[in-house]
Amino acid sequence: MSDGITTALGNAPDQGQAMRLSGVALPGNPGRYDLVVANGKIADLVPSNATNGGVVTPLFADVHVHLDKTHTISRIGTRANARVECLFDAIALMEDDRPNWTATDIRARASRALEAAYRQGVGAMRTHIDWIAPEVPEAWPVLVSLREEWKSRIDLQLSALVHGDLVQVAAAEIALRVKQDGGVFGAFFYRNADLEAKVEVMFALAREHDLDLDFHVDEGLDAEANALSLIIDATIRHRLAGRVLCGHACSLTLRPAAELERILLAAAEAGVALVALPTSNLYLQDRSNGVSPRLRGIAPLKEARKAGMTVMLGSDNVGDAFYPYGDYDPLSILRLAAPACHLEPDEWLDSITRLPARWCASSIAVPLEKGGPADFVWHGARDLGDLISRPQAQRIVYRSGKPLPASNQDWRNA
Ligand SMILES: [Zn+2]
Repeated sequence: MSDGITTALGNAPDQGQAMRLSGVALPGNPGRYDLVVANGKIADLVPSNATNGGVVTPLFADVHVHLDKTHTISRIGTRANARVECLFDAIALMEDDRPNWTATDIRARASRALEAAYRQGVGAMRTHIDWIAPEVPEAWPVLVSLREEWKSRIDLQLSALVHGDLVQVAAAEIALRVKQDGGVFGAFFYRNADLEAKVEVMFALAREHDLDLDFHVDEGLDAEANALSLIIDATIRHRLAGRVLCGHACSLTLRPAAELERILLAAAEAGVALVALPTSNLYLQDRSNGVSPRLRGIAPLKEARKAGMTVMLGSDNVGDAFYPYGDYDPLSILRLAAPACHLEPDEWLDSITRLPARWCASSIAVPLEKGGPADFVWHGARDLGDLISRPQAQRIVYRSGKPLPASNQDWRNA
């Protein structure tokens, strides 16, 4: 490496032949380590006097993405009136594009996304799938089949994203299908009428069918957006601790400190987890034509973690009307959240590794340990701070002890 970082790269070990990565940093652990790989496993992991061996992280996990919407921006963005000034503009633009969502189209776009994630070291993912009419959406069976196709590379979970106002009309039927296909049950709630009753329907069905829940909740900056509190109460009532994930919760940023603390302590006590989606929040919240943003809309993550909640980071939308950029790289989300949310990377690396991997019940994205699978990511950086500082740092993903081709070689095929 040009910056003096050395490693035993380049020669993929043959079966049975050991490979040693000397003097690697393992974020969260002091000192340096030698990591020995043999037969697809981590044969040894011991403190080392060697230095500058790069940084090794576990595989990443991304607990909140949208593989049905992804990579539509190229056709949306070509339309003259394709301007996004708020979340609801983005929803309208996605609706305009929805007639293009044939099974072939969805499969191609979602496959491109999975490939990008895999090449960047993602081992577990949860994708939401829009459910806007009682009928099973075109994307659902496509993603069921992609889950099977990718099962040795990425643990893919499917979460139904039921339109909030469809809940009382069709959620019972949808829950049956979600259960049949081993999915997660969820809804989009934002200031809906009869919200309490709708939340109750979701929880009653989850309990009836033994389903985990995942909500898009309060994704906006109206103080009246308070579905999170209803969800916390319902989680306690239905005893679903550890099985309810809430995404966004932007309106928490408007709460006075004492009220915020009360809500977050209640959420922690109830066993409700939070996933923040910094890219789409920064892109959509407080967005107004010709005016720069003042309110940034990302839920107060430090306070949530301090209160005892499981707090994670996710990619959310990639290449669509909600967020036209992104590349399914959880590390880039942490890199953004470091300044945007004042997160210390060494304290928050688990928000894109261990915590979402556990939440997705992944058997692929597991902690690094002697005897475990040699599935990890090597980064050409001196330490985690250096890695956060340099997006261009080389990255090599090891799966079963062998390096994958570098992710930045794949763009031509995308
Ligand atoms: Zn989302």
